[in-house]
Amino acid sequence: MLELKMYINGQWRDSKEKRTILNPANGDVIAEAAEGTIQDAKDAITAAKAAFESGVWSEKPAAERAAILFDIANRIEEQQDELTQLETMDNGKPHRESGADISDAAACFRYYAGLITKPDGQTYDVPEPVQAMVVREPVGVCGLIVPWNYPLLMSVWKVAPALAAGNTIILKPSEITPVTVIKLYEIFEAAGLPKGVANLVLGEGASVGNEIAESKDVDMVSFTGGTKTGRRIMQAATGNLKKISLELGGKSPNIIFADADFETAVDCALMGIYAGSGQVCSAGSRILVEESIYESFIDRFAERAKKISVGAGDDANTEMGPLVSQEHMEKVLHYIAIGQEEGARLVCGGNRLTEGSKGNGYFVEPTAFADVANDMRIVQEEIFGPVVTIQKFKDEKEAIKLANSTDYGLAGAVFSQDGAKALRVIKKVRSGITWINTYHPTYNEAPWGGYKQSGIGRSLGTFGLEEFQEMKQININLQVEPTGWFSE
Ligand code: NAD
Repeated sequence: MLELKMYINGQWRDSKEKRTILNPANGDVIAEAAEGTIQDAKDAITAAKAAFESGVWSEKPAAERAAILFDIANRIEEQQDELTQLETMDNGKPHRESGADISDAAACFRYYAGLITKPDGQTYDVPEPVQAMVVREPVGVCGLIVPWNYPLLMSVWKVAPALAAGNTIILKPSEITPVTVIKLYEIFEAAGLPKGVANLVLGEGASVGNEIAESKDVDMVSFTGGTKTGRRIMQAATGNLKKISLELGGKSPNIIFADADFETAVDCALMGIYAGSGQVCSAGSRILVEESIYESFIDRFAERAKKISVGAGDDANTEMGPLVSQEHMEKVLHYIAIGQEEGARLVCGGNRLTEGSKGNGYFVEPTAFADVANDMRIVQEEIFGPVVTIQKFKDEKEAIKLANSTDYGLAGAVFSQDGAKALRVIKKVRSGITWINTYHPTYNEAPWGGYKQSGIGRSLGTFGLEEFQEMKQININLQVEPTGWFSE
């Protein structure tokens, strides 16, 4: 069994209280994690503040910071197999998904290591004999709070740009999936990050997470998680008006026109909702289909969904893994019951899978509801599981109206072979991450984030670095003489 400790000011720290970490595929205990307290969070913040003020990291030349980040990327790759297995054991996702997450994490470190040594800043031609310029500086102490659905990757999306920019950090992973971030911190230690630069606190959101969001010594909080929690973080951050960045939930539309390549649309719609067992913020959880192909789409979608092989993530045949915890599985099953009570037509799935050894895990069948009304809870609320609704639309106008009819605005897709129509429609979808004729590909190079109640700010790409930077204007007088503004 693994023993997981916190990492504060360059020291591993245990706790009196422990939390048991379970494998969602079979309920086995895989680790015992230190349960951090508010005092641990305070200590981590103090260490990060001292490290920032010392300049040991922020004043290191960018090329030296980059060299450490490149080294971290290499070490992640060297441990690819072990990290893949641990991520699957902790979160449940199939190996092919965990493996992709680990590769993406290494690539993200490399991307920001490269970016930080590239030219930045601007100069301005102003109406005075003055040279005006802008330089970028680190924000300071950054609190990074992340969820359980991509335990390592969501951490790295924040940690890599924050460190590249010269900040010091306190990372708080989800209390139920801390395993791979411990390995990441072992890598930080081996790569020689100075003490206090990267701190790790384990424990509950309401105590440890709230302390990070509230602390006056934290200059920025970058949060990924549910919209309700995001609202709490925003309130907690008001004390010192810290910078905030929020990556929140979604209920994303996947619009399929009759002129789409039918098999590609079905295939990508399955990918859109059942990848990650639907526990993906950008999941295509509302499929909108043009009425002339509505029934044929449902038939083909259900036929394929029923064939998805659901099982433990370490089984090579598994295409979809379990849900992350018993509590979360119960929430998803509750939404399925709500859908049935609301009168939606269940076209596939709907049940927990319990045959054989699955009974000890948290497996739910790929599930789809058709004939839904737009105001049903299963259409409006984020379920965060393998449950999709399939709605009918008459024309472009109705598709756009339905697409934009929730409080969320994270992602969305359009399938059509009419390029002009696809672009016209996607431009009307009020979401930050969109696709045409595909679903889900995500790139370190391109900004990630939501409109409306799906968040504030952007991760990844150059924007993801700017989130962790302040912008300073410097004006240099080129004619050094008294101004004569006041008479002598
Ligand atoms: P969550 O909001 O319950 O928890 C996220 C993190 O916040 C955890 O570390 C938790 O301990 C912490 N937390 C909880 N309450 C807190 C508080 N009061 N103060 C400070 N921290 C607190 O989310 P979850 O269940 O772990 O993850 C699922 C959610 O994350 C979904 O809604 C999903 O859409 C969202 N998500 C969004 C993105 C994105 O990029 N937009 C990516 C992944 C997940």
